[in-house]
Amino acid sequence: MNTLTKVTVMPSLPKRIERLQDLAYNLYWSWTPRAQELYRDLNPEIWERYHNNPVRTLIEISQKDIQAVLKDPEFLERYDQVIREFDAYMKQKKTWYSKQKQKLSGKVAYFSAEFAYAESLPIYSGGLGVLAGDHCKSASDVGLPFVGVGLLYHQGYFTQLLDKDGWQQERYDEQNLSTLPIELARKDGRELRVHVDILGRDVQSRVWILQVGRIKVYLLDTNVPENSPEDRNLTARLYGGNQEMRIAQEMILGIGGVRALRALGENIAIWHMNEGHAAFLGLERVREYEQQLGISFREAVELAAASTLFTTHTPVPAGNDAFPMDLIDRYLGSWYSTLNVSREEFQELARHDQPWGPTFSMTVLALKLSRAANGVSALHGEVSRKMWNFLYPGAHHTEVPIGHVTNGAHTLTFLAQELRDLFDQYLAEDWKERVHEKEIWQDLDKIPDTEFNQALHDLKKKMAHFVRQRLKRQYLRHGASAARVASAEQVLDTHTLTIGFARRFATYKRATLLFRDIERLKRIVNDPERPVQFVFAGKAHPADNPGKEFIQQIYRYAQDPDLKGKIVIIENYDMEVARHLVQGVDVWLNNPRRPLEASGTSGMKASFNGSPNLSILDGWWVEGFDDKNTNGWAIGEEREYENLDVQDDADAYSLYDLLENQIVPLYYERDDSKMRHKWMNIARQAIKSVAPQFSMARQVIDYTKQYYQTLDARAQVISREDLKAVRHIAGWKNWVRQQWSRLHVEAFSELPEQAKPGDTVKVYVRVQTAGIDPNTLRVEGVIRRQSDDVRTFGILTLQSSHDGWAEYAGEVALPESGTFEVGARVIPYVSELSTPLELGLIRWA
Ligand SMILES: *Cc1c(COP(=O)(O)O)cnc(C)c1O
Repeated sequence: MNTLTKVTVMPSLPKRIERLQDLAYNLYWSWTPRAQELYRDLNPEIWERYHNNPVRTLIEISQKDIQAVLKDPEFLERYDQVIREFDAYMKQKKTWYSKQKQKLSGKVAYFSAEFAYAESLPIYSGGLGVLAGDHCKSASDVGLPFVGVGLLYHQGYFTQLLDKDGWQQERYDEQNLSTLPIELARKDGRELRVHVDILGRDVQSRVWILQVGRIKVYLLDTNVPENSPEDRNLTARLYGGNQEMRIAQEMILGIGGVRALRALGENIAIWHMNEGHAAFLGLERVREYEQQLGISFREAVELAAASTLFTTHTPVPAGNDAFPMDLIDRYLGSWYSTLNVSREEFQELARHDQPWGPTFSMTVLALKLSRAANGVSALHGEVSRKMWNFLYPGAHHTEVPIGHVTNGAHTLTFLAQELRDLFDQYLAEDWKERVHEKEIWQDLDKIPDTEFNQALHDLKKKMAHFVRQRLKRQYLRHGASAARVASAEQVLDTHTLTIGFARRFATYKRATLLFRDIERLKRIVNDPERPVQFVFAGKAHPADNPGKEFIQQIYRYAQDPDLKGKIVIIENYDMEVARHLVQGVDVWLNNPRRPLEASGTSGMKASFNGSPNLSILDGWWVEGFDDKNTNGWAIGEEREYENLDVQDDADAYSLYDLLENQIVPLYYERDDSKMRHKWMNIARQAIKSVAPQFSMARQVIDYTKQYYQTLDARAQVISREDLKAVRHIAGWKNWVRQQWSRLHVEAFSELPEQAKPGDTVKVYVRVQTAGIDPNTLRVEGVIRRQSDDVRTFGILTLQSSHDGWAEYAGEVALPESGTFEVGARVIPYVSELSTPLELGLIRWA
């Protein structure tokens, strides 16, 4: 048939179970296994066929399925319970946020190119998406006023299929949007349209609303009849296409996203850019302010940046989105006149000079259009400060204004139901609302070893079953022999120590490190008394052939007769695979090349489920590991290497050593009552130490206290009195920038005769201020200890000013013994700035 249009008809559910409909459209189910089970039990075959999708399940089930559950009192009882809890959650008034004195003046708008909520909504590729999805879920949990903004990719991210040779194939499935838990945003009875000009074309987007607990996420989608076929495909695929596709997508996300929020009447106080992909939102806000308030480009930049936070995730320069300037001229050229700014000044906002020429860096743009920025772990904060130090010439990397909030994971999304049941029994009644509190988890000690062990073992059996089914499906697709298909049932022994490794196959994650000394590995896995087995999963980006080669290597090792059944790799890593693995394995392995793992989160999810982390001291694990091997293990040392081969050798050696001498013996050690008591304690300690500190609730609370509240307060202050401060700052910065090259600094210091710790150095500075108000210069004496580069600052005070010269004097204390250098520097600063380095100008004497 020649299809004109498609229609999906939702059955009308009988009154007794009609709330299954509301619930299907609220992602609350994605962190409530009991809710998912209701849909599964309507028809398990349909549930599985459509990838665990409640909406689709309701569409596909028959009247017979409905009648069957209506006659099942046990089902109805579970239904009532789930609905009761759902309603209570939605109506909950007392939350963490409700108890905060300082309320935000509007909502937080969180922009991200990907969001992971559930496997049936394939608009994510990996950790960044999971983090964004989890952020929304916890924002709902803690009661924050919050909206998410993203794109709806109608072909999603790809489904990964491994062919007979273990080579990754990518399949893109056109999503049937009417079967997803989304609804179209309407305005005045009509579908909302958001317009963005792309290369002179009026590209329109519709907006989908996703309900995530108590908050909404808006997803833009250009697949509407008004657009040309090419434009309809702009939002087809996540991270697909070339740079032109990427820039167009980012324009839809950033510019279109702001317009969607305006059209929907959302009142936004804080704009949170999750990674540089979202940075164009700043341009749109600058445009709005200029046009609505009649202010200049620079004033509008001050105003927009004041309420913006930028989170960076990428510790390698090449991983940061950057466009050639000619592409910017083509795609954003019309913005120069719209914003009333010169091409040079516009491009300066994002300029990153590379050996091959100047580029337009989305990270630089995001840094310049925000007044707060952060990395995603303590170590990553440090790496980011070093990486972007060049934007602040003359500053020490420790001064670069990029902080950190360490990532977390949404506890209930990843926590197994079996453990939830145990926690319901042994932890405080309201533990689910207080997962970020350390005290809550102390009661884990009350769970008897036998019960805990049983739960972990049940989870392992479930995981093994899941892995075997997946393998079987893959072999059947390959047309394998009956013997080979049957062999899938033989993999993984549920009494063997099982180690999981699953994540994107980016090469820095070194998925094949384990195989560096293959003979040693064979001895480890084949120990007759104390065997070990490994499960792998992960997707490589479609353009990443080295990543695909890693997958193939592991696939081949899995066929090696000496490793058969002990090394298993399954295809299509997604949230469902992730849940099964983090819940079912005994140990979680992570061996990235330090310091390239900005945070990592899968190890947190495993720890929540009593699977301790075995990891390089990178990302979150630097903070999570207790240094005593009582909540997991650290591979290698806390250091970086010049030579990558040496690094790989050292880390692989350390990994084998830990397995042979610590992990394997401990796992198989039984006490008198045949119980793995010591192991249980490590599993318990993994939960106790990781669950609160690395919960997404803790993360969202940190963002709120550290950034959302402070930005909001400052944004309010500088907008007062008809934008007095904004105008002042913008005008002053402009003048300072113009005069800066003519500023001249001279300094001398007076040392005590025999310096002792606590003595002070007197520093005198004379500045030819080039017309800059001497009261707006922060003049500092600086002492630097040569041995470790630690710096001590003393702020000098203005003594006098005449004939264009200003004189400053003050003292700096010598902190300890050692050899020191004394210096002095001048920084333009007024108290309305968010940080002294806001202009990025420093002049040393
Ligand atoms: C948690 C998660 C990730 C991130 O894993 P890392 O080990 O932190 O890279 C990626 N993909 C999925 C599906 C996840 O659930």
